[in-house]
Amino acid sequence: MILIFMTSVPFSREGPAAGLTVYDRGLSELLVVGGGIGGLATALSAARAGRRVHVIEKAPAFTEIGAGLQLAPNATRVLHHLGILDDVLPLATFPKNLLMMDAMTGRSVTRLDLGGAFRAHYEFPYIVMHRGDLLSAELEA
Ligand SMILES: Cc1cc2nc3c(=O)[nH]c(=O)nc-3n(C[C@H](O)[C@H](O)[C@H](O)COP(=O)(O)OP(=O)(O)OC[C@H]3O[C@@H](n4cnc5c(N)ncnc54)[C@H](O)[C@@H]3O)c2cc1C
Repeated sequence: MILIFMTSVPFSREGPAAGLTVYDRGLSELLVVGGGIGGLATALSAARAGRRVHVIEKAPAFTEIGAGLQLAPNATRVLHHLGILDDVLPLATFPKNLLMMDAMTGRSVTRLDLGGAFRAHYEFPYIVMHRGDLLSAELEA
């Protein structure tokens, strides 16, 4: 039997398999509709949990147009559990701060330090990378 997901499955701190339990009805195969970043992450998560997964994508190829993607520690934690964080980190940049600006005056409103204390608290880094690089890492995994 096939269970159909429309894009993302929720993840938990315990890892990708934990997010599947809500949907688990004893079915062995999954069909993920849409092979974007969310769909491929869902497929990879299910595959890591031992499921056979099929992904259908309406575009002729798995590609991501667009540019940068910010990934906060909640996202990099998921990439770690999916086993691809080490693949994407060499392709990422590591901003030192998040700077909030007033759009009208151009003045700095506040600054969030993304350095050592931030990393120690959240355990995983805040990164910026190209969407295509993340999609490729998911696809290859
Ligand atoms: C301007 C902008 C900036 C953003 N910046 C960030 C950011 O910095 N950090 C961040 O975490 N998120 C960001 N997001 C959100 C993030 O881009 C999305 O949450 C994410 O790309 C969604 O991934 P997805 O795979 O669910 O959907 P999509 O990337 O939209 O992929 C859906 C896929 O499904 C396919 N599809 C659609 N219909 C069908 C069908 N009927 N049959 C088969 N295939 C189908 C499409 O071709 C596509 O490949 C941003 C979004 C926008 C718009």
